[in-house]
Amino acid sequence: MLNSILNVLEIDYSLFVNITKALKSDVPSIAKEGGFIKDGFSAELDFLRNLRNNELSQIIKLQKKYSELTKINSLKIKHNRMLGYHVEVRAIHDESIRDIDLFIHRQTTAQASRFTTNELVDIETQILNSFEKAIKIELEMFNDFANQILQKGKEILNIVHSISELDISFMVANQSVSRNYICPRISNDKILEIIDGRHPVVEHQMRLSENSFISNDCKLNNEDFIWLITGPNMAGKSTYLRQNALIVIMAQAGLFVPAKKAKIGLFDKIFSRVGASDDLAKGQSTFMIEMIETSLILNTSSENSLVILDEIGRGTSTFDGLAIAWSVLEYLHEKIKPITLFATHYHELTELKDSLKNLSCHKMSVKEWNNSIIFMHKILDGEADKSYGIHVAKLAGIPSVVTDSAAKILSDLQSKSQKKKNHNKEIITVNSKEIENFLQEFDKIDVDDISPRQSLDFLYKLKSKRQSNGKSKFKK
Ligand code: ADP
Repeated sequence: MLNSILNVLEIDYSLFVNITKALKSDVPSIAKEGGFIKDGFSAELDFLRNLRNNELSQIIKLQKKYSELTKINSLKIKHNRMLGYHVEVRAIHDESIRDIDLFIHRQTTAQASRFTTNELVDIETQILNSFEKAIKIELEMFNDFANQILQKGKEILNIVHSISELDISFMVANQSVSRNYICPRISNDKILEIIDGRHPVVEHQMRLSENSFISNDCKLNNEDFIWLITGPNMAGKSTYLRQNALIVIMAQAGLFVPAKKAKIGLFDKIFSRVGASDDLAKGQSTFMIEMIETSLILNTSSENSLVILDEIGRGTSTFDGLAIAWSVLEYLHEKIKPITLFATHYHELTELKDSLKNLSCHKMSVKEWNNSIIFMHKILDGEADKSYGIHVAKLAGIPSVVTDSAAKILSDLQSKSQKKKNHNKEIITVNSKEIENFLQEFDKIDVDDISPRQSLDFLYKLKSKRQSNGKSKFKK
């Protein structure tokens, strides 16, 4: 590879050298007014530029001459856009100067009288001519260089390409050593197996501030292709999701990756719903964007894609969000089957592990200590037990009056919901037992062979049972 790069670099650099010699280091942004060729590069241009400078000094000489001739010290040769170069005296000198044939009157205002002379017109013409000629020469040089560049276009593009290759190769080699990256193994299987993976950016930032990044594994494959990741906010779920997607992107771009070992299948596309591009300014709500992006994923991913979904459903009410997240997971599992990392704080979703055979639960571990929590940033098998929202709120500095009150509200809500659950369980058990008994007795009856009396007895029996069990239990 290096040889082929070096071959490309072996060309005739005289054009480059010439351009470097020709152009000033600080060129104007518009070519048409000239002024970009260095002095000393073209004798012709230098001659015209000198001519211009000489002519300017001639004007100064002329001003002195006219001032002596007219004995008017304040006489000036000035320039404006309408008259070009002209002799200007104060209005009180108007008459005395008009008497001299040399001066041709051009304009009188309240304060000043303006004249021209044939000498002045000649000098001005020369100045203009030399100025235009100089620009013309500069533009010719410019076009000449542009044409030469165009002729060498292919060679120049090859050089650009080779230098990019060199740049990237150098960066990859450098990083693999200085940042401890490894060469991933690319596989034809459906697999995402990363041992001790790290987030390239977060790790680098942490190293700069002398903190250490905790590496994490991921092992997804055809049998276990959805990882449902629970854990409190700040536990490192988003970082984990993104690091795995970044490692895949880097691997597929031919780069070394931040891990100890990596075996990565070829993904046709990588999808992410991570809440980084919520654009409220464009008038779309966070939830709408969340749904648009999720819809894109569900409509265009395939079983060879990688999908990372971070907390989908959080933009709406708890039940809506949970229901959407639940059915999205089922759809991905049953219909599309991409390798998926799904982070959520809806613990209810972990029940899906019983019904979805290719889904497994994982959690970002935390430790409780002194009524606070420590984020371990380590992914483990299993489900998180609590959401620790109030602990995180405390860490963020929310006043303790608020967090204490929140803790009380939470405990009330939890005990209410537990009571309701127990109550429902009771009703359902009683109901189902009664119904079962009733059905068994009912099955014994041969409807074609039952007397009116017997059927009446059966109804009485049923009625008395219902009364002895308490009506409320049959409510459902
Ligand atoms: P979550 O998505 O669970 O709320 P984040 O991924 O946003 O959590 O992580 C919160 C913070 O924790 C990050 O800003 C990062 O500084 C730190 N962090 C995350 N993962 C790691 C890790 N593996 N090692 C060290 N620090 C981490």
